[in-house]
Amino acid sequence: MSDNSQEPAATNFIRQIIDADLESGKHQKIITRFPPEPNGYLHIGHAKSICLNFGIAQDYPAAACHLRFDDTNPGKEKTEYIDAIKQDVQWLGFDWGENLHHTSDYFDQLYAYAIQLIKQDKAYVDSLSAEDIRLYRGNLTEAGKDSPFRNRSIDENIELLEKMKNGQFAEGEHLLRAKIDMAAPNINLRDPAIYRIKHMAHPMTGDSWHIYPMYDFAHCVSDAIEGITHSLCTLEFEDHRPLYDWFLDQLQTPAHPQQIEFSRLNLDYTVMSKRKLHELVEGAYVSGWNDPRLPTLSGMRRRGYTPAAIRDFCSRIGVTKKDNIVEMSVLENSLREDLNVIAPRALAVLDPIKLIIDNYPDEQEEMLSGINHPNDPTMGLRDVPFAKELYIERDDYMEDAPKKFFRFTEGREVRLRFAYYVTCTHVVKDTNGNVTEVHGTYDPDTRGGKSEDGRKVKGTIHWVSAKHAVAAEVRLYDRLFTIADPAAAKEGDYKDSLNPDSVVTLKNCQLEASLAQTSLEQRVQFERQGYFCQDSIDSKLNALVFNRIVSLRDSWAKKG
Ligand code: ATP
Ligand code: MG
Repeated sequence: MSDNSQEPAATNFIRQIIDADLESGKHQKIITRFPPEPNGYLHIGHAKSICLNFGIAQDYPAAACHLRFDDTNPGKEKTEYIDAIKQDVQWLGFDWGENLHHTSDYFDQLYAYAIQLIKQDKAYVDSLSAEDIRLYRGNLTEAGKDSPFRNRSIDENIELLEKMKNGQFAEGEHLLRAKIDMAAPNINLRDPAIYRIKHMAHPMTGDSWHIYPMYDFAHCVSDAIEGITHSLCTLEFEDHRPLYDWFLDQLQTPAHPQQIEFSRLNLDYTVMSKRKLHELVEGAYVSGWNDPRLPTLSGMRRRGYTPAAIRDFCSRIGVTKKDNIVEMSVLENSLREDLNVIAPRALAVLDPIKLIIDNYPDEQEEMLSGINHPNDPTMGLRDVPFAKELYIERDDYMEDAPKKFFRFTEGREVRLRFAYYVTCTHVVKDTNGNVTEVHGTYDPDTRGGKSEDGRKVKGTIHWVSAKHAVAAEVRLYDRLFTIADPAAAKEGDYKDSLNPDSVVTLKNCQLEASLAQTSLEQRVQFERQGYFCQDSIDSKLNALVFNRIVSLRDSWAKKG
């Protein structure tokens, strides 16, 4: 998992359908697509769909996956989102090759298909108000009723649609609708809208159009135009499938993709609806779409997630039709497994207090040898400077500590990682009684952290040499919400359950000097602390900022 090679995903019910379609000769070449609407940034839920669709293209011979921007709603869509989506798909390790498309590429064809529907007497221009359209639609228990405009002549419909297209009507004045059945039990079939008037320029087509196609029409027809063999989508579109089939049957499109639905990914302690993500970003509840606490791919990248970990997670959760909420710990375990393999180790003190070795010569310094990875000798050794004054974690000292506390307390001997055995002798306190310095003596015969007489110490702690260390800010991240399913919170707003401690910023951390040299992409394990990497936005050469990607163990499980 650690390198770039991608293991073929486990099979699933969709791959089994594809296998059968290849076997029976129904298809020779499989074509899937990932069709994001460029109205926000991608999140881990999208990654599930990306891994599924692009994964199929990767694993089947002569297969392809298209990246198609579903850009039919110019009011909400931005080039910023298009660029971010492309970057995220590539970062995840996938390549659309030649197959970059936009629904707007097909605006002419979609319009021609709409005219064809009118000519087949399968579409009409309706002029009811939005309110009346809603009233005429009926509901789950009541049939709808026909609009008085339903029987306009074909010529009149064509003329009206052309005028709509050319901007001769106000928004909301007319609507092109499919002529299906206002009494259909499936409400999606009660004469759904095909085109609406919108006087708005489009990033790709400028102001050529004053009407834009509705998702349900554009989506299935675009799939057919591209010759998609399997249109994979989430379960909520199951009820739309009869409509898609109706459009494609009426239009006799050159291809008729098979739609297969699967359950969307839900993760606990976070939200994934684009509306809510927009709200969090625009309301400055988070620092931006790439806030390291968000489940967005740009946020996860900044946090330090690896693409391999996300692909592994997607493969582990599999693809089924069952809706459920996956625990964040499943994602974090995929992450830990990858980081454990790829991350070299280093020493860093997050809450420093001085340790002074009283019997170590004042001006002396020496280089000790640090092991970069316990299981990967190819990562080699590094020099770790040692001197009289060190920093250790404040909580690695305890006054009147119990027997089981294997770290510093007066009279107790502890191993300093890669260095010496040190016995704590006394501490210095300020006027408030807070410990400001820990003092100890070292045994020169324990260099490298081994004693020659075979005497053992139970505890090993990390440290850095005070004069060699580099200062850094470290950001510790936790769940963004305090409850598992914030989106379902009944009382009040889901934002009420934002975790006030979702980020804790430590300003005066002391790091092993070698960490100042790490690249922005480098993930490191701070021994005993977790996995960290520099913050790609805020970290500067003389003002290092590290993010905690994930702790070493799942501390949340205990918190309950
Ligand atoms: P919206 O349609 O509300 O803007 P969306 O999350 O559906 O939001 P799209 O850009 O339409 O966003 O999604 C692109 C693709 O990603 C769709 O095919 C959709 O099925 C898939 N997708 C989105 N969210 C998830 C999820 N949580 N799990 C799996 N697939 C998802
Ligand atoms: Mg969608």
